[in-house]
Amino acid sequence: MTKYIFITGGVLSSVGKGVTTASVGLLIKSMGYNVTAIKIDPYLNVDAGTMSPYAHGEVFVTEDGGETDLDLGHYERFLHINLSKKNNITTGQIYLSVIMRERKGDYLGATVQIIPHITDEIKSRIREIARESGADVVLVEIGGTVGDIEGLPFLEAARQMRLEEGFENTMFIHVALVPTLKTTGEQKTKPVQHSVQELRRIGIQPDVIVARCETPLTPEARRKIALYSNVPPEAVISNHDVETIYEVPLILKSQGVDRSIAKRLGLEYREPDLSRWIRFVEKVKNACRTVTIAMVGKYTHLRDSYMSIIEALRHAAAHLSVKPVLIWIEGTDIEQGKISVEDALNSVEGAVILPGFGKRGAEGKMRAIKYLREHGIPTIGICFGLQLMVIEFSRNVLGLKDANSTELDPNTPHPVVDLMKGQRHIDRLGGTMRLGAKSIWLVRGTRAYEAYGGRDVVYERHRHRYYINTRYINAFEKAGFRVSGYSFENHEEVIEIMELRGNFVYMGTQAHPEFKSRPLEPAPLYLYFMKNVLRI
Ligand code: GLN
Repeated sequence: MTKYIFITGGVLSSVGKGVTTASVGLLIKSMGYNVTAIKIDPYLNVDAGTMSPYAHGEVFVTEDGGETDLDLGHYERFLHINLSKKNNITTGQIYLSVIMRERKGDYLGATVQIIPHITDEIKSRIREIARESGADVVLVEIGGTVGDIEGLPFLEAARQMRLEEGFENTMFIHVALVPTLKTTGEQKTKPVQHSVQELRRIGIQPDVIVARCETPLTPEARRKIALYSNVPPEAVISNHDVETIYEVPLILKSQGVDRSIAKRLGLEYREPDLSRWIRFVEKVKNACRTVTIAMVGKYTHLRDSYMSIIEALRHAAAHLSVKPVLIWIEGTDIEQGKISVEDALNSVEGAVILPGFGKRGAEGKMRAIKYLREHGIPTIGICFGLQLMVIEFSRNVLGLKDANSTELDPNTPHPVVDLMKGQRHIDRLGGTMRLGAKSIWLVRGTRAYEAYGGRDVVYERHRHRYYINTRYINAFEKAGFRVSGYSFENHEEVIEIMELRGNFVYMGTQAHPEFKSRPLEPAPLYLYFMKNVLRI
């Protein structure tokens, strides 16, 4: 019998529900159970692909090419599994399929309604994932906060699932903020009380309350939350701020969350084996040598926009027992003269040219790229990052004046980066990029080949429309900027990885290796980059 754990949020969004969900998942998995996780996003977009990173943070790309919520990244990293695009359910998807079915006549005669048609569709999608994954435990995180109008059908579906699947097979965890009043230092529980009341009004009694707080929950706050939420005090868990998110499973475990879940769901309790995880957390926390990495991008004011890259750097750094210090460099700040390239970059040990879209900040980023290349600073470019490295090289080394990407200048005389042929005739933007895991053939004797441990073919995830124009490859190669990885899409060659010949790493990839980086298994390209930054 599959067990379902629903995770709801209260008071505020972005309090760490995703990390809590992933952490609970890790504890259950470490007990030897098969776990999967679903993120529900109650917005009307069909997927996260059309949303601005500023509004929504990073778009996380799954192996099967889903453009999903960044919480799937937490799940994959903590659970060390690959998820499908199906694991991110949105209101848009639900309504789209119900309405399409209505038009086909599948409900002929019926009045199509939120209850039961929308709720049935929600439940059937959750159960489909349960079936296909074969998981013993399915975690379902409901995005937003309790009380949001758009979240109601999902909460209603969850309530129905408790009845249909049985009390012993369903569990509710409510994650809510417990703010501390600066003036008195007191932890205030009223917001949690209200959000639990709201949840109960809908018909859901939470089994566990996870209190997100700055400092460990006081016994007084715990007592109050327990009383008002109608749960025993040991079911109120303190999830206080910690140095690294990877510590969260450990603080949950120290309060017996694993035991409570096993008991509540009738699962045999087995002591979770977290030894490798604990070693990783210790490495993150104990690293004293710092390594300064410039993060050159465009959405640098919202760090969530680059979440997987930050985590990939952390994984690689922890593996080498160092601590990354990220220096954020905004392309537009360089363009507007707010910072000088020299000041921004003269003390960094390495740089990442971040992925992105569109013109804003691109010229500024290219000035940074020129500096990095000319000063021999180890640099790795991700997707748009590679494309900008290629444009900069074309202009300043090959002397191709006004070389550009047709994304940035459709009339450039030298389209060194161009729209892929398969992208020329698309009529809609949602879900149409080159998406998901693709094979990359590595060229022997290159740094990329070495980075991937001598494998001939690797699989990395993609999300792009533009690519390096193969017409210019000979010119690049002659000037020392060589192709070290390639693939094919619709019988057309796609340049996947390029690198400068020479004694420092200067490499760009069309793929996003960060999406496959795991705490216990850093992404090879990030690890290689980090080793080279440290010269080891
Ligand atoms: N805008 C570029 C493209 O579509 C790069 C995308 C990215 O960096 N993910 O090809």
